[in-house]
Amino acid sequence: MTGTDTTDLGIKTEPGNADYRRRWGGALMPSLGQPELALVSGKGAHVTDADGREYIDFLSGVAVNALGHAHPAIVDAVTTQISTVGHVSNLFISTRAVDLAERILGLTGRDGRVFFCNSGAEANEAAFKVARKTGRPHVVTAEGSFHGRTMGALALTGQPGKRDGFEPLPGGVTYVPFGDIDALDAAVTDQTAAVLLEPIQGEYGVRPLPPGYLKRAREITAERGALLMLDEVQTGTGRTGYWFSHQDPYFEGVLPDVMTLAKGLGGGLPLGACVAFGATAELLAPGQHASTFGGNPVCCAAGLAVLDTIEADALLERTRSLGARIAAAVERLGHPLIGHVRGAGLLLGIVLTMPAGTPVADAARDAGFLVNAVAPDVIRLAPPLVVTDEDVDALIEALPKILDAASAVPAQGGNP
Ligand SMILES: *Cc1c(COP(=O)(O)O)cnc(C)c1O
Repeated sequence: MTGTDTTDLGIKTEPGNADYRRRWGGALMPSLGQPELALVSGKGAHVTDADGREYIDFLSGVAVNALGHAHPAIVDAVTTQISTVGHVSNLFISTRAVDLAERILGLTGRDGRVFFCNSGAEANEAAFKVARKTGRPHVVTAEGSFHGRTMGALALTGQPGKRDGFEPLPGGVTYVPFGDIDALDAAVTDQTAAVLLEPIQGEYGVRPLPPGYLKRAREITAERGALLMLDEVQTGTGRTGYWFSHQDPYFEGVLPDVMTLAKGLGGGLPLGACVAFGATAELLAPGQHASTFGGNPVCCAAGLAVLDTIEADALLERTRSLGARIAAAVERLGHPLIGHVRGAGLLLGIVLTMPAGTPVADAARDAGFLVNAVAPDVIRLAPPLVVTDEDVDALIEALPKILDAASAVPAQGGNP
């Protein structure tokens, strides 16, 4: 059945979550798992499901809706662009792509070039192809890393469970233990094209690289003529309180040769970017890579609106101070289920003292808050950068009860 349902009394009712779950189960591939809620509308950090229940969104479509739902700047930019010219292909110049590429490079303060695509996986595919074009066969990534689900991005992903069943994958990838600088030093040779790292591993429990690691990684790669590539798909676009998280003083001024972006960049529209600096930007020659939708004017217009709004509304400063306030407030609750809070800006992981991530996320949902269990013992908070103080206070206030409710449930896993 589709559309509007009819009750016994002949009264027409809108389909609810249960109707959509049932239809989802019949029509969509269960490649990740069956979602619970159908989200049908939103404004700022608030979303409403198909049963008419409202939630405060502390997940933002997994760090995508940087400006929340239905932000007027994005609505205006997209509406104007789609009614002007919506798609031109890469056989013609997308003027919005030019604008956005210049804007991104301006925010890095460096010379480079941008390749636009439609997702994080594709941005990392482009980076992988750049690596191959060095002529060296070997790439190093970290255990626990997540770089996407396409075959190339999956080959780069340091989680064997996600690669299982999809071999053979593109080869020549070594996974080094997370945060172990000696292991990295041993793995990088004169045959290594690139080292690809996430400054904070978003999908593996919001794990920041340990202090000093990235600086040594930069030295080791430079020494052996390998590229340093940063996957900023989740950490970029203001998420951690800097335009790109490697600009956080914590990372001691390290400059990558390549940086990949997606998630927040399009503010909800599919937009990814592979940004290469200096000579690295010349490695992909004409004819060697392309994407039909890459640089699409509508998505790039949304990207420009995201960056303009972050700047105009001083959201980087706001993200830094609000993130610090949330982390301190959550730790101050002193709840027995809370170990500590890690991450940066508005990409935070509440590390639990037990693997109770799923029950906590479920209890939060029941209390009207969207979060997710990004690891069996970690709750990820990634609210829109425009989340209000009132919404944050509401979560902090509700947390003790949410954690109490979850403590009563037997422990189980998360991170499907
Ligand atoms: C989400 C994510 C990806 C994959 O992005 P998709 O748009 O889902 O392909 C890659 N890298 C990181 C760090 C991510 O968080």
